[in-house]
Amino acid sequence: MQDRPLTLDGFVERAERLSPRKEIVTATVGGVERVTHGEWADRTRRLAAALDTLGVSADGRVATFAWNTARHLELYFAAPCSGRVLHTLNIRLFPEQVTYIVNHAQDEVIFVDRSLLGLLAPLVPTFTTVRHLVVMEDGAPVTDLDGLDGVELLDHEALLAAEQPAEFRIDDELRAASMCYTSGTTGNPKGVVYTHRSTYLHTMAAMFTDSVGVSESDTILPVVPMFHANAWGLAHAGVAAGSTLVMPGPNMVPAALAGLIESERVTLAAGVPTIWMGVLPELAGRDTSALRVIPCGGSAVPKALSEAYRAQVGLPILQAWGMTETSPVASVANVVSWLADGSDEELADLRATQGRPLVGVQLRIADQATGEELPWDGTSRGELQAAGPWITASYHDDPRSPESFTDDGWLRTGDVAVITPDGYVRIVDRTKDVVKSGGEWISSVELENEIMAHPAVAEAAVIGVPHPKWSERPLACVVVAPDAELTADELIEFLDGRVAKWWLPDDVVFIDEVPKTSVGKFSKKDLRDRFADHVLPTAGD
Ligand code: AMP
Repeated sequence: MQDRPLTLDGFVERAERLSPRKEIVTATVGGVERVTHGEWADRTRRLAAALDTLGVSADGRVATFAWNTARHLELYFAAPCSGRVLHTLNIRLFPEQVTYIVNHAQDEVIFVDRSLLGLLAPLVPTFTTVRHLVVMEDGAPVTDLDGLDGVELLDHEALLAAEQPAEFRIDDELRAASMCYTSGTTGNPKGVVYTHRSTYLHTMAAMFTDSVGVSESDTILPVVPMFHANAWGLAHAGVAAGSTLVMPGPNMVPAALAGLIESERVTLAAGVPTIWMGVLPELAGRDTSALRVIPCGGSAVPKALSEAYRAQVGLPILQAWGMTETSPVASVANVVSWLADGSDEELADLRATQGRPLVGVQLRIADQATGEELPWDGTSRGELQAAGPWITASYHDDPRSPESFTDDGWLRTGDVAVITPDGYVRIVDRTKDVVKSGGEWISSVELENEIMAHPAVAEAAVIGVPHPKWSERPLACVVVAPDAELTADELIEFLDGRVAKWWLPDDVVFIDEVPKTSVGKFSKKDLRDRFADHVLPTAGD
């Protein structure tokens, strides 16, 4: 067989040769902008030439601080296909974390959306390696900003206009293509570097029918940010397959997203659970008939949410599991043929799992004390570990690396899971989120799932709080749905019988909102800080 490298330049070539008339649509403040794949590929090549003109090193880091747009997608390919490394900065990290990751990655240039420049500007003086700032105009007003005195702002369009399209040729498939930092809430973020090969293979995996099955006929709405774990591979897959891409831009409010799903006849819309919680009511009364799949992950998809979509939209949510470290998609919860005739309840339970490993990914669970592999019996709980060609082998230039890998090179995910005999992974918790009650574990994820099944509950998170006798007991932090009423007693009564008696929360607090992390997950750390001194009514028992 021919030994051809698996590199991303081939995807750009496909866009210009095989799908030049297909569109990339971007929602902007001034309305919807459309470019064809052909125009996009030409711009991408000219952007790569501009990186040469700017003097960005042959393997230099090219950072983005941007929403999901067609321009951001140019950078997704212009950087790696010219040998550089794309570094997508998470716009919602704490300022000191942004400084840390820009300096740690040694970014040479940052491409920033005009609407985000105000957020970035005060940090610019803290960057040690950045030589250029390039502004991508998105209709936001131009204002003077602190932090930019004496800094020349380059204009993305002017750079492109001055260039001829570059030729792409990457010979080494193991060359770095992009990098992302984890959005972890403790310590500095850790960097993961993806190669052309890992990205190529992950892109192919996004096209498997048994994954999300991206195809040419799809119209893809990646609500998941392009700075969060490669937009789950959908941006790459959309280009490779020749799909229509619909980029939501800065306006991420549920009504705008629901509007795009209807007006652009979106077939595949992907985002974290909190997004789909907000969008569901906005979809009421709209034509969603084009939708065929709603991939969702990043945190556990509540069964009640998936079922609510099935009831209203006619389509349950398709749960996937992964991490920044796993490119990110590692498992997807499609229903296998031999279980497909299960009851509605059984199928909903299957879809509430994190799914089965994709071809190319190996998953196992290991005893946390001994490291021994545990059986796939649906009850043995252990740390989930992953191996495969799109699973990271280390963190970028980070002394914390070794503790995250086993002696035989598997990634220790920090998730606690069971695996069923059919190969379905069920995440029980993050290692640090399980409630450790009297030597036994209570799964905060499972408890939240049951609480969120109550119709009066909008959101709920469970944390362990200190208990004098049991070491920790569960505290339910609950957001009541608008116009609904709920008491702690009513909730406990509802849970009684749905979970083991000793799992019932010792207390329920009602809060206005569950705090979210930079990528829209429930921030248990914030809740733990807030309720660190909470005295449980059972503390004296
Ligand atoms: P990130 O690197 O930000 O994507 O975070 C990865 C972590 O998100 C995983 O280790 C899990 O703890 C969590 N996660 C991702 N997908 C799911 C899912 N479908 N269900 C539960 N947790 C998930």
